Amino acid sequence: MYDVIIAGGGPAGSIAAERAARSGLDVLMLEKAVYPRHKTCGGGVTQKALDIIGGIDKGLIERETFGARIFLPDYRNFAGMLETRVAVMTRRANLDHWLANRAGDRGAVVHDGEAVKDVLFTEDCVEVVTSENRYRSRMIIGSDGVNSTVARRSGIRTRWGADIGMCLEAEVELGETGVDECVGDRLVEFYFIGDRGYGWIFPKRDHISIGIGEFAPRVSDLKGSFSRFVRDVSIRKNIDIEGRINGINSYRIPVGGFDRRIHGDRVLLTGDAAGFVDPFLGEGIYYALKSGEIAAGVAACAVESDDFSERFLQEYVARCEKEFNYDLKSALKFANFTYGHQNLFLKAIWRDKKLFMEYMRTARGDVTYTEFNRWCARRSPVTLAKLIIGR
Ligand SMILES: Cc1cc2nc3c(=O)[nH]c(=O)nc-3n(C[C@H](O)[C@H](O)[C@H](O)COP(=O)(O)OP(=O)(O)OC[C@H]3O[C@@H](n4cnc5c(N)ncnc54)[C@H](O)[C@@H]3O)c2cc1C
Repeated sequence: MYDVIIAGGGPAGSIAAERAARSGLDVLMLEKAVYPRHKTCGGGVTQKALDIIGGIDKGLIERETFGARIFLPDYRNFAGMLETRVAVMTRRANLDHWLANRAGDRGAVVHDGEAVKDVLFTEDCVEVVTSENRYRSRMIIGSDGVNSTVARRSGIRTRWGADIGMCLEAEVELGETGVDECVGDRLVEFYFIGDRGYGWIFPKRDHISIGIGEFAPRVSDLKGSFSRFVRDVSIRKNIDIEGRINGINSYRIPVGGFDRRIHGDRVLLTGDAAGFVDPFLGEGIYYALKSGEIAAGVAACAVESDDFSERFLQEYVARCEKEFNYDLKSALKFANFTYGHQNLFLKAIWRDKKLFMEYMRTARGDVTYTEFNRWCARRSPVTLAKLIIGR
């Protein structure tokens, strides 16, 4: 019998497996796809996420980014850069494969190509039925993404409500110099052209990730918006991005900042399975890593105390709340305000560059959303004056 089975080997699952194995637990991680596997994602990993990974293989870093160029709906734009790196651009297939291998190196048993089909909870163990086998463990961590089987089979969540969004993304080969010409050096691009979300271009070594996300339950004609976005960008940059698209990937994205059930007897949910995603930016890798790390710590305590009750595992909810989920609620307040008053928000960051730079420090992880919201409140007379004066 394993101490813990982890369903899903994305960032949340691999970090949970690695940390749990490191603290001496018998760990089995089950991943339904075969590594290296594709995951629809921009692949942007912020500095705060890198700090959790600690010592990423340099070969995984396709580009570094120090700032962003922001495009208004009429395509007027401005850019800002910090002196320190904000994020690195990766290919998720490579990053996730590397993280899973690292978990294996630290002692976790990793089975890829093996999907969790069912989870049965008994008085003294969890029985996990997969496409290949049956396993028993003392508890299970559901790191199996937005369509989590563990969430459903444990009865924690049968379906998402109004708290889910959608993204479309394509990876377009341009060659190294083509990427430089398209996006420039050390920047990512954000296009505020949607209702509640944005378009992006993230530069990789020799291709770009171009996509559009809507972080709202009612998703409008996203396919139409994506086509218009790609066409407009192709014309404005005079680069045929549209004609080079081979396939468009779509994927659901949970909207974070809500109080949700994320645990039960012998079960914890992490990452996308728990709905831990920044509701403004759509960043989920950091929250997947952070919740995976916390889940491993709580699992180690549960094994030591031989207590896997919902009551004991409440510690996981409390630690998530303290370490990032309270802040995701501040992020939701910020997202509600900015997407509710998008024109005002864009004018404010256009006129008040200090506001824009402070947001980049927030994305990097130097300040929390809670601190950023307070900073904005203190700054508001200056921002307002700049809005009125026009400078
Ligand atoms: C288009 C798009 C762009 C994004 N861009 C970014 C970005 O640039 N930066 C960022 O930080 N976040 C981004 N996100 C969010 C980010 O991709 C997710 O938040 C993150 O991947 C969550 O990690 P996870 O480990 O919880 O889940 P996932 O990465 O989804 O991993 C879940 C794993 O579980 C496996 N699995 C599923 N079901 C089973 C099963 N039954 N049995 C076994 N295994 C199973 C899957 O194969 C998968 O490998 C983006 C999301 C989208 C949709």
